[in-house]
This record gives sequence, C-alpha cells and structure tokens, in this order.
Amino acid sequence: MTLVWFRRDLRLGDLPTITAAADSGDPVLGLFVLDDRLLKASGGPRRDFLFRSLAALDEQMGGRLLVVNGDPETVVPKVARAIDAECVHVSADYGPYGRERDERVGKQVLLVTTGSPYAVAPGRVVKSDGEPYKVFTPYFRQWLDHGWRGPADTSASTLDWIDPADVSGPRRVQIPTEEDGSDFAAGEKAASTQWSEFLERVKGYDDERNRPDLDATSRMSVYLKYGNIHPRTMLKDLGALRSEGSAAYRRQIAWRDFYADILFQRPDSARENYVKKFDKIELDSGKHADELFAAWCEGRTGFPIVDAGMRQLNSEKWMHNRVRMIVASFLVKDLHLPWWRGARYFMNTLVDGDLASNQHGWQWTAGSGTDASPYFRVFNPITQGEKFDPTGDYVRRWVPELRGEEGKAVHTLKFGRPQGYPDPIVDHKHEREVAIARFKAL
Ligand code: FAD
Repeated sequence: MTLVWFRRDLRLGDLPTITAAADSGDPVLGLFVLDDRLLKASGGPRRDFLFRSLAALDEQMGGRLLVVNGDPETVVPKVARAIDAECVHVSADYGPYGRERDERVGKQVLLVTTGSPYAVAPGRVVKSDGEPYKVFTPYFRQWLDHGWRGPADTSASTLDWIDPADVSGPRRVQIPTEEDGSDFAAGEKAASTQWSEFLERVKGYDDERNRPDLDATSRMSVYLKYGNIHPRTMLKDLGALRSEGSAAYRRQIAWRDFYADILFQRPDSARENYVKKFDKIELDSGKHADELFAAWCEGRTGFPIVDAGMRQLNSEKWMHNRVRMIVASFLVKDLHLPWWRGARYFMNTLVDGDLASNQHGWQWTAGSGTDASPYFRVFNPITQGEKFDPTGDYVRRWVPELRGEEGKAVHTLKFGRPQGYPDPIVDHKHEREVAIARFKAL
C-alpha cells in the first residue's frame, strides 16, 4: 500500500503526486493532517476555505480521505506504518514552515516529492552565474525561457483509494467547520467553474485589471493558494488564447512564482525587511498610532478608496489588487506604521492570504522589498481613486454613507462630507512630506 499526504494541493486533477503513487500499482491511502501550528496561524476565512476544500476533496474520493489531528512528524509515520507504506508521496512545500516540517517528517519516513504548487518551482529560475534574481522583469524573461510542464494526466477517479475505516492507527476525525468564512465556493470543481467563467473575459484583462469598479480580475488567488487548481492547467488554457489579456494574466502568474522564489531564497523576509537598510526607518507607535491603525482596519479613515478597500476586505475576505496597493501605501506612508502590522491584518482576514505574495506585496509597497519604487513616489489616495475607480461605483458599493455622491466626486467630496462619514484622519500632503523625509534620512 502507499500513501499520498495532501497539503496545499487539494484536488485530484493535474496532480503529479497521484501519478507517482499510482505508478506503484498499490492501493493508495489519501491523508490530510490538521496541524495546529498551521491552523492557529491562519485566520478564520482561510481555515473555513481549507475545511470546505477538504470536504469537497473527500466527496470526490468517495468519502475516503483520512483526516487526522496532530503533529505531522508523529502522525504521518504512524499512518505509513499502519498501512505498511514504504514511502509517502507529497508535492513540495517551499514555505519556511513547510520546509522545516518536511525535514522533520523526512527523518522518520521516506518522503517522495513530485511537483510543487508553482508553474516553475522556486530555485529553478536563476541568473547565468547561478545567483537568484532580485528584480521581477529579468526573472520574468528567464521564467518565460525556462517554460513549464504541461498538466499531469491524472485520471485519479480510477485510483483505488483505501477506505480509512479499514486502517488502524491515528483516529479519523470529522472535517471541522469555521464560522468566520467567505462566499468563495471551495474545491476543484468550484475552481474549474471560476476559471472557465474568467476565460470568457480574459481578453479585457490587460485594460481593465486595475479597475476595482469592474469585475475584471479572475478571483483565482484562493484556488491557487489551496491547490484547487494548478497554474500549469491555467497556463495551458492561456497559451491557446494568445490575446494581450492572456499574456498579461500569464505575467501575474509569474509574479506569484517570483515571490515564492524570493521567500525560498530569503525565508527571513517573511518577518524582516528584505532590504536591510529599512531596519532604520523611523516608524510610529503608541496610543495615537494604535488609534490610526484601528481606523484603517475598520475602514473609517475618511479617505473613500481606502475605506472602501478595507470594508471590502472585512466583508468579502478578499480585496482587489490595485486597492491592496492603495491601502497598504496609506498604512505605510500616510500613517507611518510598520508594514508587518498591515501584513498581519491581511493574513488574518484574507481568504487568499499567502505568506510569499502577501509579505512581498507589502514590502514592495513599503519600499523595503524587491523592485523598490522610488521613495518619492507616494500614492495619493484621492487621485488613485479618481484614476482607478473613475465611475465611483466601487466606493459607493462599499461605503454606504457615500451613496448619495455622484460619479467620481465620491473621491474628492468637494461639496462636503455627508453626515456619518468621518473627516480625513491625516493630512495627506503633510504626511507625504514626512514619509519622504524619513526615506531620505535612510
Ligand atoms: P488576478 O488579477 O486575476 O491575478 C491572477 C493571479 O495572479 C492571482 O490569483 C495571483 O495568484 C497572481 N497574482 C496577481 N497579482 C499578483 C501579485 N502582485 N503578487 C503575486 N501574485 C499575484 N495575493 C495572494 O494570492 N495572497 C495574498 O495574501 C496577497 N497579498 C497581497 C498584499 C498586498 C499588499 C498586495 C499589493 C498584493 C497582494 N497579493 C496577494 C497579490 C494580489 O493582490 C492578489 O493575488 C490578487 O488581488 C488576487 O485576485 P485575483 O485572483 O482576482 O487576481
């Protein structure tokens, strides 16, 4: 018998781990370990999505997914022993905790690694001297040159899944539920439906991806995060289209690979500045800073696009990319708070919270990450709103107090603030100068 240990690859299609396990010709047991260290560190929306993905996977496997509680270092070898498995099949995990965990488990039982959650696995795209890239554009060129495999042909439904009821060893537990969830349907079928629906409109992605007032992006991030779909499958479909929209989308998939690569090269960058000189930047703290942070979290800063973004996040557990950049810039450059405070709030609230993309999305905005933008470039939340939400529909949707404002005037509120909507918590013009002075001091 053989064992497949699922982690961030909660699907049956295009899953090389399954082909590797099936090659043995033995019956296969599918295992998922509810690891407290990961569950406690995830916010409710991520736990909820994970649990619902597990339920969907279990259903696809005819109710034969073995779900157990515990530390993988103990329970994975126990399950392997219980079925006399010679090895355990996994997809590679490149995150800091996943690597450390796999090293521990690998000392107890043979882990056979096939594939990863990325189109091109971290560590593969390197400069001619073998050094990793630190800037996206050259990485992207090399990523395109490197290429990726086609989807793995896993006719998984024909796999002979072992019934966990026939296995002694760690006790099978019910898949838990979580109340603080999102409306994203979970599982491989949901991912595939969302993807097919997006492919119908990918043509316009290039022009419209920065417009939060339109439904122009794919909302695939959560499916990629939990491996309900593999980017290989998506790249194959995009390759067949050859539009500017599909090329622009492919570039975004490369950003995901790039940040995973950066985190792989520099695991410390999950918590610390990627560019070390930023350790010296002056940051605000104390009671007033905490009050500003609370206003930011709750979407009551008095800056319409910032408030709309934070309220979308709190309600949908997801936020449009352009608005993620705007609210992050506001926290770092208008409120002078450390990027990791905002990053932590995102990780607790986002359904797609992903250590590599999130921490590096934040570090990029803070200027302490890769591809640093010039320090004097500080987003103006009002002009950003006017430019990217030109209809004002995005703000009106998420900030009910402003529904009486017409068109893009919702961003400037030049005819006054409706009752119940707060005054700006800071003076952007002044804070911009403070931010620039602090950057210059570095
Ligand atoms: P689409 O525009 O449809 O993009 C397609 C896919 O490409 C995404 O699903 C994602 O996998 C990838 N992608 C797109 N943009 C980026 C990017 N800048 N970096 C890395 N991958 C990208 N993405 C996450 O998946 N998890 C996070 O926790 C996360 N936190 C972020 C925090 C900040 C401050 C910023 C600026 C960006 C963050 N991103 C994060 C990246 C991006 O905002 C989301 O991937 C995107 O908004 C998800 O929506 P979508 O699937 O509709 O994106």
